[in-house]
Amino acid sequence: MSNTKSSPKPNPILKTGIWVLAAIVCGVAFSYFFKQSKAQSSLAAAVPEVDLGEFPIVEPTLKYGFALDTFVSIEAMIQPNEFLGDILGRYHVDYAAVDQLAQNSKEVFDIRNLRAGKPYMILTKDTSLRADYFIYEPSVYEYYVFDLKNELQVEHVKRPIEKRIQTAGGSIQSSLWQTMVDNDLSFELASKMEDALQWSIDFHHLQKGDEFKVVYEQNYIEGQEVGAGRVHAAYYRNYDNNYYAIWYDGSEEHEGYYDQEGRPMNKGFLKAPVKYSRISSGFNPNRFHPILKRRRPHLGTDYAAPYGTPIFAVGDGVVSKAAYTRGNGNYVKIRHDKTYETQYLHMQKFAPGVTPGVHVKQGQIIGYVGSTGLATGPHVCFRFWKNGKQVNHLKLEFPPPAPLPDEVLPAFYEVRDEYLKQLETVEVKHIVVEHDTDEAEKEKS
Ligand SMILES: [Zn+2]
Repeated sequence: MSNTKSSPKPNPILKTGIWVLAAIVCGVAFSYFFKQSKAQSSLAAAVPEVDLGEFPIVEPTLKYGFALDTFVSIEAMIQPNEFLGDILGRYHVDYAAVDQLAQNSKEVFDIRNLRAGKPYMILTKDTSLRADYFIYEPSVYEYYVFDLKNELQVEHVKRPIEKRIQTAGGSIQSSLWQTMVDNDLSFELASKMEDALQWSIDFHHLQKGDEFKVVYEQNYIEGQEVGAGRVHAAYYRNYDNNYYAIWYDGSEEHEGYYDQEGRPMNKGFLKAPVKYSRISSGFNPNRFHPILKRRRPHLGTDYAAPYGTPIFAVGDGVVSKAAYTRGNGNYVKIRHDKTYETQYLHMQKFAPGVTPGVHVKQGQIIGYVGSTGLATGPHVCFRFWKNGKQVNHLKLEFPPPAPLPDEVLPAFYEVRDEYLKQLETVEVKHIVVEHDTDEAEKEKS
């Protein structure tokens, strides 16, 4: 519009013409800008990338089966020493109602079982914020809905779990645990794979370059991974040895992990009495003792682990000793059969009920890692006795157990072949991640 100012010596007709033209130009420009700004403001008001004139669709936010948009919702965590009455009191639910709720819910949920750190939600439609519902979620698998209005009832809701069969494979770089982390696999899966192979693999003597493959169930809830289920088949290559664990549950009496020939894996002894530990001192008949400062044979294998780590019986048997001595500290000895006994030293404490004469099962917790007796740090000194003499259990060869009975074997082979085929297709990833190693290796008795 600056052109209107720039005319030198205007005559009246031209001047009028210029003004008419200017008015038209301004009018067009104004209406253009007006339309633009109107269009922009209505675009800004609508959901982006939605065509004008189309109704925006609002998805209700659903949680615990409630449309949250229709409530005021407050989410929080149970605090230490916080009771249901404390929480509901803040939302104007009186004590009589809480008491009635406790009575009504007895069969479904004991209100004393609220756990600190677990999430809960209050829902209300009331402007005074009196709670209509209290929802408690003890785990991702389930939650409880407390109706605080008329009924004062509690409903237990289990979320449906979807199980998907997945596979994974990897190559050991340092520990199994580190390798699982580097491969984006869970500790839970590592633990379950260790459970499946614990009779055949000594997870304290893994070799860099060892390979594993696993077929397992992954649990999902509402599309989210929530945990590993059963390991169906596992493969491990240690040096040049190939190990397989195949889950078979053809009948109640034949249920568990079997090797390729259908031999039950749990017939042997566990390779170690603790998990997630490291060997801090091996079996050595000529060892120099770090506390006694003299040569003294070490007739056991030391597994260093944090205080309180559970110690497992490596086989079924009967507790022959659960006692204290100055050297051994708290220790347990188990007789497995005529030939073999095992002994576990320096326990912090015994598991409840572990006393002489009691039967224990393989994998049962018999005590907890400590440093009682002659010990410099928390560990379990594990001793293996054969015919009354202490031997290095990691060198023992046991006769193989009998396979499944002939009438069951064909069914087992069918299951086995299916898993072997699946394992065959698993890709072994060679992921190398640099890690700082500042873990001080300490010699412990
Ligand atoms: Zn020892």
